Amino acid sequence: MGHQMFEYNAKFANEVFDYCRDRMSMDPVPLDFGGLHPIDPASMADFIRPEGHDPDEIFDFFKHSLAPAVVSIDSPGFLAFIPNAPTKSSLLFDMVVACSGLNGTSWLESSGVVMAENQALTFLAQLAGMPDGSGGAFVSGGSLGNLSSLTVGRDIGQSKRPHLSLHDVRFAISADAHSSIGKALHVLGIEPLLVETDDHRFTREHLETALANDPHPNTVVGIVATSGTTNAGIVDDLEGLGSFAREHDLWFHVDGAYGGAALFSPSERHLFAGLRHADSFIVDPHKWLFAPLDCCALILRDPTVARKVLAQQASYLDILHEGDDEDYEWNPSDFAIHLSRRARGLPFWYSLVTNGTAAYETAVQAAIDLARRTVAMIDEMDHVEMVRPTSLSIVLFRRTGWSAERYTQWSHQLLRDQIAFVTPTKWEGETVARLAFLHPDTTDELVRHILETMRD
Ligand SMILES: *Cc1c(COP(=O)(O)O)cnc(C)c1O
Repeated sequence: MGHQMFEYNAKFANEVFDYCRDRMSMDPVPLDFGGLHPIDPASMADFIRPEGHDPDEIFDFFKHSLAPAVVSIDSPGFLAFIPNAPTKSSLLFDMVVACSGLNGTSWLESSGVVMAENQALTFLAQLAGMPDGSGGAFVSGGSLGNLSSLTVGRDIGQSKRPHLSLHDVRFAISADAHSSIGKALHVLGIEPLLVETDDHRFTREHLETALANDPHPNTVVGIVATSGTTNAGIVDDLEGLGSFAREHDLWFHVDGAYGGAALFSPSERHLFAGLRHADSFIVDPHKWLFAPLDCCALILRDPTVARKVLAQQASYLDILHEGDDEDYEWNPSDFAIHLSRRARGLPFWYSLVTNGTAAYETAVQAAIDLARRTVAMIDEMDHVEMVRPTSLSIVLFRRTGWSAERYTQWSHQLLRDQIAFVTPTKWEGETVARLAFLHPDTTDELVRHILETMRD
């Protein structure tokens, strides 16, 4: 007899499966309320205590109090930050991963899982034009993917310049790099060479000017480009920056957490040709590749150097590196700053394999096409105007005459009215409105409705 805590409760299991079935069949998924729907902490006061509670009672509390207090990121009306719209097959397979105790740490424990994840990583690497042999691991998010990549880039860069210490080396970045790049450099204890750009797009010319004006250009060991800035969708000059990196033996990291998915877009993929130069590249399937949170694909051009820098050494782990299967041994834990890991790449892999790549092309392209039609709507209306041309699936526009407070009020009201979740951003110091399209079911009617709510 097992412990009661580990017994299977068929009745409760069915309730949970029913809930998941209902949730998964909602069309469209409601927005719900997030922080606008406060919960009285007193209602949870005695939850954690020596004796347990009735699971139904607590599940009801979750369904009726906690769950509605979360803005559903997979609603087609979620157009703030970067949304997430997992396919049904990825959600279903996420449940399989949850129920199977799948540990994606090492080849020894889970070669089957790692093979499937690697198939998806290899596919992405080929799409990016990276050479055979490129690979890596799925990590929790772009932030960890960036930190892991820059850690490898820093150590490799410094090893080629032994007169410099690990803290003296620098990466060239632009002001539009994601906040996680700045944080990663902070964690690594190194400074950026902050490159000025004129229209927020980081190019080879900007880099050359910055290096020419810098007193210590030889301390720069790598370049960070963004392939789809989060705020505006701008794809940096990957070809120019990447070829500069190759010519000067610098590490070339490309942060495509959001925009890397546009590799699937027939109209935009030409912007990514320079990705073939990347030493490290990240893209978040939990953003625009329709996988559930949390999932980032980290791909290294030469995974063996990453393993040298990042593999954890401990006597109890030695066995992971002593397989008979030398040719195939591939421990995802060696390629990033992590050890134990959920097989978080599997839901993406399963969805890609079952839906096919053509379905991904269509779904990614849908958001880009909607962004373009939105420009046409904005151009027709006289109370709103574009701030800059759209890039990828992001639209920045202003409501003429509005203060920052007015944008915030409007954003809260839209959510309260359950129309959409749209948050303002700043562009060159000015508060403006931003639509981040991603869900293929976001309609023109919804966009028009949102724009109409800005009339007064
Ligand atoms: C979202 C994003 C990140 C951070 O990714 P997380 O998955 O949220 O950690 C990094 N870079 C860019 C360009 C992003 O859009």
